[in-house]
Amino acid sequence: MEEVKRIWLEVKKIFGTEPQLVMLSSLSPMAIGGPGLRFRASSESYLSDILRKLSKNKIRYVPIGGCSNILCPDEPLEAPIITLIGDFCQIVWRSLGSGVMRLGGGASLAKCVRVAQKVGLSGLAPLSGLPGTVGGAVRGNAGSFGQSIGELVERLYLLTPEGREVVLERAELNFDYRRFTLPKGLEESLIYCLLIKLKPSSSLQVAIEGNEAKRSRELSQPKGRSLGCFFKNPPGDSAGRLIDSLGLKGLKVGGAIISDIHANFILNVEKANQKDVLELALKVKDLVLKKTGLKLIPEVKIIDSQGLEMSLD
Ligand SMILES: Cc1cc2nc3c(=O)[nH]c(=O)nc-3n(C[C@H](O)[C@H](O)[C@H](O)COP(=O)(O)OP(=O)(O)OC[C@H]3O[C@@H](n4cnc5c(N)ncnc54)[C@H](O)[C@@H]3O)c2cc1C
Repeated sequence: MEEVKRIWLEVKKIFGTEPQLVMLSSLSPMAIGGPGLRFRASSESYLSDILRKLSKNKIRYVPIGGCSNILCPDEPLEAPIITLIGDFCQIVWRSLGSGVMRLGGGASLAKCVRVAQKVGLSGLAPLSGLPGTVGGAVRGNAGSFGQSIGELVERLYLLTPEGREVVLERAELNFDYRRFTLPKGLEESLIYCLLIKLKPSSSLQVAIEGNEAKRSRELSQPKGRSLGCFFKNPPGDSAGRLIDSLGLKGLKVGGAIISDIHANFILNVEKANQKDVLELALKVKDLVLKKTGLKLIPEVKIIDSQGLEMSLD
């Protein structure tokens, strides 16, 4: 806690106001995470100012959207988190050309799916029921039922940690399965806005596609506290199928358990912490490697108390 107190005082001195203290567990759908400092940026000028000041004072930050793909540390997070609100939650489709939508990085993905359906634009419907924000979805190239968000992105607007604006066009974007590689030097940038291109369709048709995706999700996934699929699927196989085939459903460490509905879901059932989840995930990963020779790689972003991404190795 000492380190957070130090950063809290430092940030207070830099910004002239008291930074907000939050429990990351209250933001996380898995309800895991210790305390941290939060900036809620509502406009581009305020966001640039936050980034510039943090950068000048060499303070690392972590962008957080819905926190639905981040396993937060139990210890206090020394890097302040930045979430996008206000202007960054806008969804615009009028007067942008056929099928184009402009989405703020902080916009709820579920809301974008609903708006696309209302105006009869097809492409986002397979992502129905997926939690989180547009910025978080693009950062990890989220997807489901054969559709990844990266395939729809036409242009990205970024702010670098120094507060510099960068615009990237489709041809410059490098999306792979559940991965988006930002160009060298821009890895830590914040996605504050983007354009996506959808196909004109009818509201009814888009609603049918969306309902099908939602229903399949409800039938195949558990309802408890989780971060969705914990591991990425290895090429040509499914992580859930592999884990299930080894009889690991129900395996438990502390308050974390492998779901008996979908073996790639780790649930927080009894006040689990990051340590429980990591120990369980490591066990699963080691057993799968030993029995099948396949190395599972986490899909969720695991961060340590300094805000740095950790591997499971
Ligand atoms: C029940 C459940 C089901 C899920 N099902 C799926 C699924 O079917 N398919 C799938 O792909 N995922 C799934 N997920 C995971 C998750 O919902 C998605 O990855 C989601 O798109 C993450 O968005 P977020 O806003 O919550 O991102 P966060 O979890 O907040 O962040 C994810 C990463 O993006 C970074 N980030 C966040 N916002 C920004 C930004 N504006 N600019 C730059 N970086 C940013 C973070 O630092 C972090 O590294 C599921 C999760 C849950 C809880």
